[in-house]
Formats: sequence, structure tokens, C-alpha cells
Amino acid sequence: MDLTVFSELESEVRSYIRSFPVIFDRARGSLVWDEDGNEYIDFFCGAGALNYGHNDPIIKEQVIDYLAGDHIQHSLDMATGAKKRFLESFRDIILTPRNLAYRLHFTGPTGANAVEAALKLARQVTGRRSVIAFTHGFHGVSLGALAATANDKFRAAAGVSLGDVTFHPYDGYFDQTTDTVAQLRTLLDDPGSGLDFPAAVIVETVQGEGGVNVARAEWLRALAALCAEKGILLIVDEIQIGIGRSGDFFSFEEAGIVPDIVTLSKSLSGYGFPMSLVLLKPELDIWQPGVHSGTFRGNNVAFVGAAVALETYWRDPEFSRAVHRRAGIVAERLDGIVAKHPEHLARRGRGLLQGLVSAPGSGIATAVSRESFANGLIVETSGPFSEVLKLMPAIVDDEQDTLTKGLDIIDAAVDATIANLA
Ligand SMILES: *Cc1c(COP(=O)(O)O)cnc(C)c1O
Repeated sequence: MDLTVFSELESEVRSYIRSFPVIFDRARGSLVWDEDGNEYIDFFCGAGALNYGHNDPIIKEQVIDYLAGDHIQHSLDMATGAKKRFLESFRDIILTPRNLAYRLHFTGPTGANAVEAALKLARQVTGRRSVIAFTHGFHGVSLGALAATANDKFRAAAGVSLGDVTFHPYDGYFDQTTDTVAQLRTLLDDPGSGLDFPAAVIVETVQGEGGVNVARAEWLRALAALCAEKGILLIVDEIQIGIGRSGDFFSFEEAGIVPDIVTLSKSLSGYGFPMSLVLLKPELDIWQPGVHSGTFRGNNVAFVGAAVALETYWRDPEFSRAVHRRAGIVAERLDGIVAKHPEHLARRGRGLLQGLVSAPGSGIATAVSRESFANGLIVETSGPFSEVLKLMPAIVDDEQDTLTKGLDIIDAAVDATIANLA
């Protein structure tokens, strides 16, 4: 495969192509083929944009019908049948059964744009500027979202000051016993702490890009209670862990909390079409018409895909149980791999966002990712030192046992990598 045009013409900013240097061609479910017909199992799933796998046949059929019927594709935020169907399905299948009363703000189609809207809204509602974000958090790379993104690699590219965000240690940042919500409470209660009283706290329940760090449910509950008590808005960024990857539609459900604002994107359309959404409690809806706008808010094929995904998968609670079972298979297998190499590896994660953690600087995760790709598996690394092999298999089953085969490839790649260290 000739990749010259990419290296000659495309900016140096390109990134995943460097880890997976082939020309991808076709895909179906958890399988992807390159132009030479080589087959790969996908444990990357578009960084979480393809939770239902590639080219879901049920979604595809309705999207093709929609296109073939010359229905409206681009509509800004005008009313369309596709959007109406999505709104009604989201209300009936997601919100009402969970007793959630959110209003929906369709933003520009990137996750970062949803985060921008969430932060703007929180600042407008409270009249405060400062926001608390967490160590190792990732919320996107446009300036407002970047200000809340911890990784220096991304921050250094900004070229302007990234202000009005204070980083606080995430759950487990120091060790498993330090209560960092209690620390936040102490800082907030102390007029001499120097902490600007925040408009909002923005948090991921599992930090996907930051190294698969998991916040415990009790930590999330304590954070939500602290926010409620102090009148600080709680924004939960569900962009990567949401739409079923935790096992539930929203990852915050497990903790039994109700965030004030929620951001959704990646797998929302069910098909890899760009689409983002901010959920906000009705009393926060102080937006003036059109002030957070965006030309591509009305991506109607995405609305069709999103509605079909909800109607196909989320009506029956059995779907969620199946995702949890699948997650159990992955966790058990990874525990087996860790048990063979306890001095080199640990596991952490939740649901189908799982990490094999190695020592920073060991190069193990990167080597395992590379070896896995050579053996037909797409799996990426995350964390500030790329020290975590991040597994994100599709949340739906296929009949080809790709889950076990992918885990077999990782198992063998880990053995080979660690044997090479010696
Ligand atoms: C991917 C991601 C974003 C940013 O989404 P983009 O579509 O890349 O702008 C924001 N937050 C989280 C948690 C993400 O994983």
C-alpha cells in the first residue's frame, strides 16, 4: 500500500495513521479490511465513535432509505422529520425510563463543541468564570475545552493562555485512599485557599484519553453532593464512556447521580456520523436563541442513525445486561494476562473501556499495540506516557467471536513483548 500522498501532502498533525499505517477500505461489525484485503479486528472503534461496530446493517438500511428518498440532509436547527424522530425516541427510550427531565441542545458536531457549549452555559448561569477540571482529564482541543484538558502535549499547542480552569486531583490520583473530594471541600470552604469559586466542575466517570482512570461511584456521589450543596454545576462528559460503553447508556447511572449538564457525542449517531448534544436541566436553559450556533447542527443522517440505534438497542434492558456480560469476559481475560506478568502489568477500567497498565517509560503498551496490529488487531494506547493499552471493543456481539480472537492476539502480543524485555 502506497502511503506517500499522506506523508507528502497531509500535515504533520496526522496522528493515528502513524500507529496504523495502512489504507483502510471496508468494514463490518468488529472487522476492518485494508486495501490489500488484510483483515483486522477492531478494539479501537473510532475512539468510541463506533460502539455498535462498523456499518451496523439495521442503521445502514434506514440511512440509505433516507438518502434515497431525497429527505432533508442539511437543516441548521430547523425542524425535520429525522430530528423529530430522534427527539421522540430519546425522550421515550432514554430520558423517561430513567426519570430524567433534560432539555436537548444540539451543538456543532464535534465533542469539543458540546463541551464549549456546556462550559459557556455554566458560566452564564452562575455568572462565575472559573471551572474545576481534573488531572488527566480530556475534553477536546478547541480553546475552551482545551483549557479543561490536562495533557501538556495538547495544551502546549494553544499559543494563548488557557485560563479560568483549575485542575484538581481525580479519584485515585495519589493513591486509593486519599479522598480528593474531601480535599476539594476543604479548599472551597477556606477563603484563604486561593481557589476561585467555580461555576462548574467538569468530569469524566472514566478518563479514556487520560489512561483509563476510573472514578469510584462513591467518589462521584460525593462530588455530586458537594456541587449540589455549594451551588456549583456538575458537568459529566460522557463523550467517550457514554452511549453504552460502561454497560449503561449513561456511565453516571451506576452512581445514581443526576448531573446538571451532560455532553454526548462520539457514538451518539450509532454509525460514526458526526453529532453532538448537550443535555441540560430545564431550569438552566437561559440560552438566548442562536447564541451557541453552528452550521452543521442539523446533520440529518446522523439523526436517523441515532434514532435507529436507540430504537434497535436500547428499548430492551437485556441489551445493557449483555454489554455487562461482555465486559466481564474482557476483564476476566485481562486479569489472566496480568496474573502471568504481575510485575509488569495491572488492569483498570469499567465496562468495555479497559486498560492494561504498564510502567511509564517501559514502552510495553506501545510495543503490544504495534505487535497486535501486526497480528490483525487495532488497539491503541492512552495515558500521559502512552503507558496504557486501551481496549475498546464493540459493545454489540457478533457471531464471529472477534472478542475472544482479539483478546488472544493481545495475550500473545503481551507474552512476546515481555519476553523481549528480558
Ligand atoms: C473525544 C472526546 C472529546 C472531544 O471530542 P471531539 O469530537 O474529538 O472534539 C471530549 N471529551 C471526551 C471525554 C472525549 O473522549
